[in-house]
Amino acid sequence: MPKHSPSTLNPRSPLVLDTRDLPRRPGALRTVKRVAPAPADLGVELIGVPEGADLDLDLRLESVSEGVLVSGTISGPVRGECGRCLRQINDSVVVNVQELYAYENSATDETTDEDEVGRMQGDLIDLEPALRDAVVLTLPTNPLCREDCPGLCPECGVHWDDLPVDHSHQQIDPRWAGLSQLNRTEE
Ligand SMILES: [Zn+2]
Ligand SMILES: [Zn+2]
Repeated sequence: MPKHSPSTLNPRSPLVLDTRDLPRRPGALRTVKRVAPAPADLGVELIGVPEGADLDLDLRLESVSEGVLVSGTISGPVRGECGRCLRQINDSVVVNVQELYAYENSATDETTDEDEVGRMQGDLIDLEPALRDAVVLTLPTNPLCREDCPGLCPECGVHWDDLPVDHSHQQIDPRWAGLSQLNRTEE
């Protein structure tokens, strides 16, 4: 990861926070409430926030001595697939964000790594990396349509919910029955 990301941030991007009107005086506060469209690929393999879905940002920006502390919640819808039965999952996720962004050229900027403490670009903060980290940590790697989803019968692939209680594939094929008798006589 490069020490300073070369890309310049677009202050109009909905996931970029502009701190121009936040005084650089420790304790100064500002709240940001907005709806932003979800970026692509926000999630994990089987579940994630659909691209363009509404993310509700409810954040507090606080000036600290060497940067801005961003805290609050971001919530949005998630879609996915049950890891046991492949049924569609429609749910929502709320992630907590608490991230410090150091002013450019501050002592923190000079003495820490970018993956420990975020960086500001001028007055701008790119919220997207922290959002991605928080979403990936919050979403289950093995999502289920419901806690006790019984999954699919491994033999016929039908959901156990749709099968009779005594469903089984234990009937022995007569040809195999014959073979097992052969084996027995060889012993
Ligand atoms: Zn399921
Ligand atoms: Zn079956």
